[in-house]
Amino acid sequence: MENSLFADASQRLEKALKYVSISDDAIEHLKFPKASLRVSIPVRMDDGSLKIFQGYRVRYDDTRGPTKGGVRYHPNVSMDEVTSLAYWMTFKCAVLNLPFGGAKGGVTLNPKALSRLELERLSRGYIDAIADFIGPDVDILAPDVYTNPTIMGWMMDQYNIIKRQITPAVVTGKPVTIGGSLGRDTATATGAFFVIETILSKFDKLPRETTVAVQGFGNAGGVLAELLAINGYKVVAVSDSQGGIYAKQGLDIRSIRRCKEFIKGMHAVYCEGTVCSVVEHEVLTNAELLALDVDVLVPAALENQITEANANDIKAKFIFEVANGPVTSAADQILEEKGIYIVPDILVNAGGVTVSYFEWVQNRSGLYWILAEVNQRLKDKMIEETENIWKISQELSVSMRTAAYIHALNRLGEAINTKGTRDYYVNG
Ligand code: NAD
Repeated sequence: MENSLFADASQRLEKALKYVSISDDAIEHLKFPKASLRVSIPVRMDDGSLKIFQGYRVRYDDTRGPTKGGVRYHPNVSMDEVTSLAYWMTFKCAVLNLPFGGAKGGVTLNPKALSRLELERLSRGYIDAIADFIGPDVDILAPDVYTNPTIMGWMMDQYNIIKRQITPAVVTGKPVTIGGSLGRDTATATGAFFVIETILSKFDKLPRETTVAVQGFGNAGGVLAELLAINGYKVVAVSDSQGGIYAKQGLDIRSIRRCKEFIKGMHAVYCEGTVCSVVEHEVLTNAELLALDVDVLVPAALENQITEANANDIKAKFIFEVANGPVTSAADQILEEKGIYIVPDILVNAGGVTVSYFEWVQNRSGLYWILAEVNQRLKDKMIEETENIWKISQELSVSMRTAAYIHALNRLGEAINTKGTRDYYVNG
């Protein structure tokens, strides 16, 4: 457990605890997940063989409401990873003041190696295995790495079949035609964009003077890179799991995303209509991208990307953590000493869960919002909580990460204390 991701994740609390008056009972309560489930999922493969996949769901804490969290499909998924992600979700929901606790799920597999039919059978099998552990008032699912609206639709459908009733609020990030929210597909990136704009404005940094490198080109990183480019930032490098591309003059992200959609892979192109041509660029490894001399570095892929081993190579002035846990706590220390300004995951990527909350509210009320309403509510929430955390960090002279944990702990501590504290029972 010493070297586990969860042990590293829990360390983030230590610094914040010095600044909050939280009961020992609440601290004890937050040390352990409420419930952890490991399941075996039998899947009939296209060649007729049977394969058993390992799946997980962890509900970390539900004091502030039903638990909420994504489902990840990746070869590295483990109980340790899912527990850490559920832990971060607990703090993220508290940072944004959403009436949810934290959860996470996942299946250990390489989704690229499965056919669409196999992926559907696996997704339905996962729900068969965890159906009694989830529910719209218990634990709500959402997309994460290598899961998407189609998969969320299958999951909701399977839950409906098991429960013999239509229950859209059990899964968020569904296709809009079956109860998904407008704006959920771009919510994580849009939320991150509002955080970046709010923070950079404090440093009088204008978009056109700001160079950006983005690691990870999926739902979070790809959409954010395009949003930044559209708004005048110079996005000079992007990457996916295969590696990256760099162009000093800036990349045309819209063209790169369109091209990636049609012919898989990352190509440095500029497109006019359907005609695309390759532009001058360099090919990069992910390690090289992380070490670029840029103003803003956005890790938007997986955890543990910046560690003790490469923290000294980082030259960016700001890091906005769109991925969950991309910087280890040892690396955090090194980066802080180097004067690199880090804005933490539990704030930066919270746009996703915020619009998932909006989706849940819409499913339960039966009243659906227009896109402008979703985005305005998202903007208000993201800016409000960014300003709150900025204020705490300025007043207490602490990092944005510590300030975010202080902010979340104040809310979580107060909620957990309502269950009773030693002080209440012993001292009256
Ligand atoms: P995604 O599956 O849509 O995209 C993942 C991207 O990362 C892909 O481009 C993939 O090629 C790339 N990638 C995978 N391994 C990589 C590696 N080793 N190096 C570089 N790139 C790599 O996933 P996503 O939804 O964009 O999630 C990315 C991160 O954002 C995750 O940490 C996830 O937990 C976090 N996040 C996502 C959401 C959401 O709503 N999707 C919300 C909050 C946080």
